[in-house]
Amino acid sequence: MTVPLRSVPAPAEEQRPKRSFAELVAAIYEDPRVGHETRELLLAVAYAVDLAKREDGVSPLKVARRKLGVHAGRARYDRLIANDAPRYEPPREAADWGPGGAPGCEAPRLRTYVYRPRIAVTGEPEESAVPLRPSPSPVLHAAPGFSPPAVDYRNAQGICGANSHHKVLEKDPRTGWVTAHWFCKRHKDHAERVAEQVRAQNEAAPEPIPNRGGLLPCYFKADWEQVYRHYAGKSWEPPVYGLCADDWPTPGQPLISRGRLRVVVGGIDIEEAE
Ligand SMILES: [Zn+2]
Repeated sequence: MTVPLRSVPAPAEEQRPKRSFAELVAAIYEDPRVGHETRELLLAVAYAVDLAKREDGVSPLKVARRKLGVHAGRARYDRLIANDAPRYEPPREAADWGPGGAPGCEAPRLRTYVYRPRIAVTGEPEESAVPLRPSPSPVLHAAPGFSPPAVDYRNAQGICGANSHHKVLEKDPRTGWVTAHWFCKRHKDHAERVAEQVRAQNEAAPEPIPNRGGLLPCYFKADWEQVYRHYAGKSWEPPVYGLCADDWPTPGQPLISRGRLRVVVGGIDIEEAE
């Protein structure tokens, strides 16, 4: 089924030199932000836009979608567009980890950590136990020649290091990006103290600056908001910083200006994903 979302009328030609197809392809290849799959997407759209200039009745995004093929029963184009939806992705540590998965407790260590070998379950001396079968040889999960560090990391970093249960998110006052702090059950008080310390800062923090996607609008002009909304799902919202990754500020750095010689993608007809 074809759903014509909206046609974007081509704006008046800008008084700037036009970027040739070769220059556009070179710019995509030289852009360090572009990963290999997004590069494929950008090149497919570039090719389709170029084709549409020479042949009538070509819908660039439909051509790009066809060229990118199908994987696991889904048009790759649909997934790649959704991947390019501009958004902020928090770091892995900020996810909701279960016990054991989260980073170790970062509360300060007061006493030196001392390794204590496990005590035998029976409490009897090992020699008196009647072996039912010979014990397997110990498995060594380390490279040959490995020796444990002389200073345990918990002592070196002065942290508790126990399994974490309490998460406190701290937002950067400039970027809105989050840092996760983790604490064990024994350091619940510490977690509450840290949460109180960052509360005002978190409330005043700006919307997070996007750190993913937003590359299509750097190269092509179209109603990308409609397109992203269609493929990225209902929960996606356009970032307040704009859709285009070029427009996102980096603290302490000037904005990246890439000439803004964007190619106009003609009428946008988006096919529904099968
Ligand atoms: Zn702890």
